[in-house]
Amino acid sequence: MTGKHVANYLERWIPRNSAWERDSVGLQVGDPDRAVENVMLCLDATEEVVDEAAAKNCSLIISHHPPFFLPLKRLDTANDRRGKLIARLVKNDVSLYSHHTNFDFAKDGVSFRLAEKLGLQDVRFLRPLKNTLKKLVVFVPEEAVEAVADAIYETGGGVIGDYTRCGFRSEGTGTFYGGEGTDPAVGEPGKDERAREIRLEVLTPAWRIDEATRAMIDAHPYEEVAYDVFPLDNDSVNQGEGAIGAFPAPLALDDFLANVARALGVKALRHCLSKSDDIKTVAVAGGAGSSLARDALANGADAFVTADVSYHTFEDFHRRLAIVDAGHHETEAPGLDGLRKRLEEFFTSEGHDGRVLTTTHDTNPMISYIA
Ligand SMILES: [Zn+2]
Repeated sequence: MTGKHVANYLERWIPRNSAWERDSVGLQVGDPDRAVENVMLCLDATEEVVDEAAAKNCSLIISHHPPFFLPLKRLDTANDRRGKLIARLVKNDVSLYSHHTNFDFAKDGVSFRLAEKLGLQDVRFLRPLKNTLKKLVVFVPEEAVEAVADAIYETGGGVIGDYTRCGFRSEGTGTFYGGEGTDPAVGEPGKDERAREIRLEVLTPAWRIDEATRAMIDAHPYEEVAYDVFPLDNDSVNQGEGAIGAFPAPLALDDFLANVARALGVKALRHCLSKSDDIKTVAVAGGAGSSLARDALANGADAFVTADVSYHTFEDFHRRLAIVDAGHHETEAPGLDGLRKRLEEFFTSEGHDGRVLTTTHDTNPMISYIA
């Protein structure tokens, strides 16, 4: 097992290319081919986390926040926080890999886990991403259709929610005239030919369309392959921002707040009021999610649990939507539980007996003083 194996597995669920375009995700520091016994998870990698990882034989740390969000201009390993972190990683032979906005946007990612932790049901994306899909259509003789479809599925095509290998096939007639020097797989050159063909349609992640197209052409028996790539305006079912769900029965606001505080281990919550005291439909966004408050309201939410909420956002939504600021660290931490479970399943399926640990250090830099 290497860091690359772990990354390849995770990126099927949390594609690197689905991150916000200015985000820096993936391997941050280290050698992707380094052998991995145990893995350590954290929201923020600190020197203490690196020491703990090294002591517990974790040669790979997966952090939620990438340390290189802003470009690094110099590497001062004595005085700069990031410089010291890099030095500590290199000295201990520990690699650092980060999922950030791609984990926020993933189905069953940060916000889905937060919703689950609060006890919400029928959870879906609050604002599905758009422009994440392309439709690949190819015309293929029947005997080759399975191989061509498999080649597209192998590159991540045909995934719709929890369903994989999704496609559509319809029969028709392909026509062609092979010019001089051609060697058609069906029929002869210099003649009008007709061939029974299947029109195969598969949805493909936009960021993997070139790879899917190349694999499809390699698996296709024709010299010249007829295919179409369509951009789609669909809402993604696999990537989105925030999540929304409902409680089986409404809760009074105070009971709801007590529930949030208990579930997330928070001592103090800042909040404004909803239009009524009944809280049933609740939107969530782990970390700084204020920009989704309007979507929460438009989707009928009574409350919205997120973090880093400004005074004027509270003011704007007061008595319309109970926005609850439950802390950046606290609203993102549930994502790590989901990550740990998935990685444990992966290790088991690969027969790898390494462990997936969550750091025991409290890396939350925001501390509440309760008077
Ligand atoms: Zn964050």
